[in-house]
Amino acid sequence: MTTAPAFDVQKTTHSRLTETDFKNLEFGKYISDHMLLSDWKDGEWSEPVIVPFGELMMTPAILALHYGQSIFEGMKAFKRNDGSINIFRPQKHHDRMNKSLDRMCMPSIPYEMFIQSLHALIEIDKDWVPTSEGSSLYIRPLVFASESRLGVKVADLYKFVILTSPVGPYYSKPFRLKVEDHFTRTAEGGPGFAKCAGNYGGAFYPTQMARKEGFDQVLWTDHKEHKYIDEVGMMNVMFVLNGKLVTPKLSSAILDGITRDSILTLAREEGIPIEERRISVDELAEGFKNKTLTEAFGAGTAAVVASIAVINIHGTDYTIPTPTPNSIQLRMKAKLHDIRGGEMPDTHRWNYIVKV
Ligand SMILES: *Cc1c(COP(=O)(O)O)cnc(C)c1O
Repeated sequence: MTTAPAFDVQKTTHSRLTETDFKNLEFGKYISDHMLLSDWKDGEWSEPVIVPFGELMMTPAILALHYGQSIFEGMKAFKRNDGSINIFRPQKHHDRMNKSLDRMCMPSIPYEMFIQSLHALIEIDKDWVPTSEGSSLYIRPLVFASESRLGVKVADLYKFVILTSPVGPYYSKPFRLKVEDHFTRTAEGGPGFAKCAGNYGGAFYPTQMARKEGFDQVLWTDHKEHKYIDEVGMMNVMFVLNGKLVTPKLSSAILDGITRDSILTLAREEGIPIEERRISVDELAEGFKNKTLTEAFGAGTAAVVASIAVINIHGTDYTIPTPTPNSIQLRMKAKLHDIRGGEMPDTHRWNYIVKV
């Protein structure tokens, strides 16, 4: 599909494009001119509307604020050399969004509505998609309980919102992580696999504690024994151990990352041996000691891959070699970049092209 459906559009009379410093795009700082809105009422979603980004009127009694029915997605669109815009893997993001919605007893969003909404919004704010190398338009779909009422219950009213934000290349020093052996992000059977608001609020405190000790993020472990690796803040974690790409097997306590899936798919295709399984903290320590652990990195939409420099295990800092251009993480990152940009064939149909 290349033409956006005719949603009700109210265009801004004051574009903020010229006030936006595209040379210095801090993640999440600028929000594009328009947003998309739809309301769930009487068992159905209203026809989405596109309006200028701005405030919403609502009471402090909306159920999302009190009981946490609020979920989101995080995805990206890229400007290509031919001027078109590529939304990366919208189907998989949509699928995950509905899993998050289902876990939080919230109504699902039909794929047609989701993709048409994205398409229309991006077409209108096409000039917000940055063009410089490594930059992109971050897309934030959000659904929350908008019913105004006290008393714990599953809401009857919801709002679906899509915001977009131009973001620059991700520059960061390689991460210093601390294996968390006291706090838990979530537990087996909990909502860890869902991108629901509470998961992040609950992770702030342990992360702040780790920051005070000089780490960037926490490496989460299982809630029972703190013995097996789960993931990092907003990223899945991957290791190269004995030449194999090893990552924790998905569970209800781990978010099913789309970057994780993309990297595993590409690595498998290249014939790199892959293992999705439990990884114990002891096994990592062992890998450090006998130098079989050669790479460690986070995988997520914001950074694509983020190298890990140090992992602290029970008080000892273990250092990981700096990745070379030939490392698995940088090769996979380059491949993903080329598939998104059209320099390599999109054999998995991950790209959704908006011609503008
Ligand atoms: C979003 C997220 C990830 C990464 O998922 P991507 O789809 O690759 O962006 C990993 N872990 C958590 C907890 C997340 O919220």
